[in-house]
Amino acid sequence: MADYDFDLITIGAGSGGVRASRIAAGHGAKVAVIEEDRPGGTCVLRGCVPKKLLVYGAAFSADLEDSIGFGWEEVDSAHNWGALIDRKNTELDRLAGIYTTLLANAGVTLIEGRGRITGPHSVEVAGKTYTAERILIAVGGWPSMPDVPGLREHAITSNEALNLTHRPDQVLIYGSGFIAVEFAGIFNGLGADTHLVYRADLPLRGFDIDLRKGFVDAAQNRGVTLHPGITIATVEAEGDQKKVTLSNGKVMVVDAVMAATGRKAMTDDLGLESVGITPDERGAITVNADSQTHVPSIYAIGDVTNRVNLTPVAIAEGHAFADSHYANAPRQVDHTNIASAVFSLPPIGTVGLTEDDAIKQGINHQIFQASFRAMKNTISGRDEKTVMKLVVDRDSNVVLGAHMLGPDAPEIIQGIAIAVKAGATKADFDATIGIHPTSAEEFVTMRTPRD
Ligand code: NDP
Repeated sequence: MADYDFDLITIGAGSGGVRASRIAAGHGAKVAVIEEDRPGGTCVLRGCVPKKLLVYGAAFSADLEDSIGFGWEEVDSAHNWGALIDRKNTELDRLAGIYTTLLANAGVTLIEGRGRITGPHSVEVAGKTYTAERILIAVGGWPSMPDVPGLREHAITSNEALNLTHRPDQVLIYGSGFIAVEFAGIFNGLGADTHLVYRADLPLRGFDIDLRKGFVDAAQNRGVTLHPGITIATVEAEGDQKKVTLSNGKVMVVDAVMAATGRKAMTDDLGLESVGITPDERGAITVNADSQTHVPSIYAIGDVTNRVNLTPVAIAEGHAFADSHYANAPRQVDHTNIASAVFSLPPIGTVGLTEDDAIKQGINHQIFQASFRAMKNTISGRDEKTVMKLVVDRDSNVVLGAHMLGPDAPEIIQGIAIAVKAGATKADFDATIGIHPTSAEEFVTMRTPRD
């Protein structure tokens, strides 16, 4: 065997890269990880974690409103945006430190700088070349924006939105995917006049149709202004503000425009051409079920592969890679029935097939559905419905999908996902006695199919 500097070089110290590196090192491999920022990656530094802290902060405004129905006196409370951002940053410093320590304790060498592949076994960082038997690409993704005049110059992305020094009074968010609706909840909850502009007729393409409709009602009810079926024509600066012309001719002047129009794999300037790897049109690297590229010594995991772009998936792929190669325990990640959540206000949790998926796949199915005002909303007076749905295979009785919009949906669906992953039938759900009074019990008490 050739004499390499390392058994494994990982490019990117995000969730997937760190997991792969420290598990491989734990199995006895000599590992280096290359990172140009602090360890942590998108999820810890620019995504899930800071976003969720801001969602927690934003949710208090509705709680304060709701408390009045329970006898609390109305309070005239102002929110200090800067204080929230400072405390969020302190928490991120703590987490980045933990990631650095995790790598050091596992014996992984952290190489700071930008890594560029120069051959099947070599990576260059700041003019120095390092060699390894295997290279793992875990560089993640980055926000992308469509070619709209003025958008790239004047719009922020989620990266900047998490670090604004002041809360904008009016904000226009472009797009209606995960990131757009989560930030709509943050800005609206923290008091900004929030507009969501999107080209589809309903937000959240790919989610179950009844949740999408329910989200429209809830978001509007909470004060977000929705602009469906609209694109942005141009964005111009107007003093400190932005002048946005929409496809319907309407002109809006706002303090901030945020583009949440998808993400692209970060494969530019990675040296992929040196080994003949050509990214696809989204910049993503194609891999097989073992996360291996067509260059046998080069692997890729996480968002850079654009398979299922979720942190726990990247972590699972990194762990499987490390076990496969350094613990003599080859295994692949099962990408079916992965639960996910949208931390909108109210949030969404989902696992498995939607009703549309079942129709498209020609599955003989039944729908069990409930739409109700959660108990807390009776006395609070909040006019907001929780929506729950089960998609069931009519022939086998197996529950194919579970979907929820409403308070605690992500926490509830995580538990339901175990049942769906285990292949539970509707009869198993029916045989489960509910916890009363909860919203979650509705998942085991829906008796009558919709059609
Ligand atoms: P999404 O792919 O979810 O949404 C992109 C949005 O941008 C859609 O509304 C899409 O419209 C719109 N869009 C795309 N191209 C254009 C265009 N040319 N003109 C106008 N609108 C456009 O991307 P996000 O950026 O929201 O999130 C990226 C990924 O990050 C997610 O897919 C998810 O995997 C991950 N993520 C997960 C989170 C979680 O688990 N809670 C949170 C945040 C991100 P249309 O619907 O019409 O296609």
